[in-house]
Amino acid sequence: MATEQTKFSVLCSLFTWTQRSKSAAKKRSKFRKFLDAFCIDRNFFPAIRLILPNLDRERGSYGLKESVLATSLIDALGISRDSPDALRLINWRKGGAATGATAGNFALVATEVLHRRQGTASGGLTIRELNELLDRLASGENRAEKILVLSTLIQKTNAQEMKWIIMIILKDLKLGISEKSIFHEFHPDAEDLFNVTCDLKLVCEKLRDRNQRHKRQDIEVGKAVRPQLAKRVANATEAWKKLHGKEVVVECKFDGDRIQIHKNGTEIHFFSRNFIDHSEYAHAMSDIIIQNILVDRCILDGEMLVWDKSSKRFAEFGSNQEIAKAARDGLDSDRQLCYVAFDILYFGDTSVIHQSLKERHEILCKVVRPMKGRLEVLVPNAGINSHLTSGEPCWSFIAHKVDEVERFFKETIENRDEGIVLKDHSSKWEPSDRSGKWLKLKPEYIQAGSDLDVLIIGGYYGSGRRGGQVAQFLVGLAERQSPNAQPMRFISFCRVGTGLSDEELDVVITKLKPYFRKYEYPKKRPPSFYQVTNHSKERPDVWVDSPEKSIILSITSDIRTIESEVFAAPYSLRFPRIDRVRYDKAWNECLDVQSFIELVHSSNGT
Ligand code: ATP
Repeated sequence: MATEQTKFSVLCSLFTWTQRSKSAAKKRSKFRKFLDAFCIDRNFFPAIRLILPNLDRERGSYGLKESVLATSLIDALGISRDSPDALRLINWRKGGAATGATAGNFALVATEVLHRRQGTASGGLTIRELNELLDRLASGENRAEKILVLSTLIQKTNAQEMKWIIMIILKDLKLGISEKSIFHEFHPDAEDLFNVTCDLKLVCEKLRDRNQRHKRQDIEVGKAVRPQLAKRVANATEAWKKLHGKEVVVECKFDGDRIQIHKNGTEIHFFSRNFIDHSEYAHAMSDIIIQNILVDRCILDGEMLVWDKSSKRFAEFGSNQEIAKAARDGLDSDRQLCYVAFDILYFGDTSVIHQSLKERHEILCKVVRPMKGRLEVLVPNAGINSHLTSGEPCWSFIAHKVDEVERFFKETIENRDEGIVLKDHSSKWEPSDRSGKWLKLKPEYIQAGSDLDVLIIGGYYGSGRRGGQVAQFLVGLAERQSPNAQPMRFISFCRVGTGLSDEELDVVITKLKPYFRKYEYPKKRPPSFYQVTNHSKERPDVWVDSPEKSIILSITSDIRTIESEVFAAPYSLRFPRIDRVRYDKAWNECLDVQSFIELVHSSNGT
């Protein structure tokens, strides 16, 4: 049977069977049988785009995530918004059935609702008709058009078919078979070709004959490439061992959007990690790219971030879209988009992914003219300490010892950055590879079982991003004579900076500012109601001189506590992180030393 004439119900049976089957091999062979029996014209794309909807970029976005889809289905079904079924759809996270068995699965909740309205007989929709309706759903300019398409779909299907259509719209079929297996079963070269083109239609068209191998294709300007990825490691020592004998570049892990910039003359594309072309970046960035990238054709790999001109630092993740829109609308802002290029994949007329990272860094430096806060190049500088003299933060260096990696990791965490990436300087860039040529190291946070509510007793100025202002706190535990008594004093406990958004941190600092007193060790003793050691790490830049005006923070940490020589409390925390600010708690509700020690002993089983 020709693909487009095949009934969608055939595909639904394949989906249902695949989802239920436990054997990966059987799932793969069933999929192969489907292709052989129902795509005899070898026109695979109409079916495969329904099987791998998250990889299909031929259709635009539907603009229908669960909540919008819920209200659209309610209107398509013509039911009242406050009816029990409408509420079930709207509150899909809570579950549709009385048992709550479908909780959190929108398609299953919708199926329950649809079952009561649709017959069980198949509507007879073909794959071609479904694709046409999905095209209309994606291109529909307003809500009314989308609702019309949804009600047509409901008329032409039964509840089971509609369930799979909803999953296609949400781009996740939950079949329990990997994309890799599907590609492999389709054609042995399908995955490779997809990785360098991100074009499902092209893969289906070029690889019609499973027995004919396809020559490995290189990347090209204008076609997104699946990015090289980083493997997670637990600590600096593990990372160092893994890259033993290699020249290692250590970079700051920036927290923005991974974007590939494809430049072909004045044509610029901004491809995300999911190969979506983010044209909204064009207004703010295209001219800068055209003027400062000194080659006609190239592909850059890097991170799109937001630069805050007043604080001269990168803003936290999450405002890229808003800043892109502000630039498009000509609105004045202290913030602007900034692209950090950390690699180059194509240069002039050739792909350079087969060259070493070291060589690519050299090309990158020749090709990109950096512009402060707009377009940055991430290549190793002279050494880890260079930023101490230049005043600029160090973002990348060649490491010679594991201690340098450890130190840089600590610095990035103290600076509230996301972590670090280690790269083999001799490695080539490989599409979609996560085998360990790039390693990432991020702090691991585990809930400490119960909240640790501690009091802010001092503050440390930050460097780099938060230079000149308090970026971290010294927090203390209360010391009480008896369990319910008022605290007599506070014992220094640990230093913590990460966990809050910049905005949340600014609110805390503004509230505490009137009580900050500069601390010039050793001339001035800390206030007498704080107990500290003489360790240098414990000299905050400012003390909070009225504990009763201070603020409680709930902190979590890596579950391992460390015996502390630095702080006055007998234990401290490894990688502590602020969970939230407890404005609802008074200063004297701070956790006390005794309770904390009991907590440590109970979690250690001693
Ligand atoms: P995470 O949630 O940790 O970012 P991820 O699954 O999104 O993980 P990974 O491959 O594990 O992605 O980590 C690499 C990601 O880190 C890249 O996709 C990129 O967005 C980001 N990144 C930030 N700085 C760098 C850098 N200097 N080099 C490479 N990737 C970087």
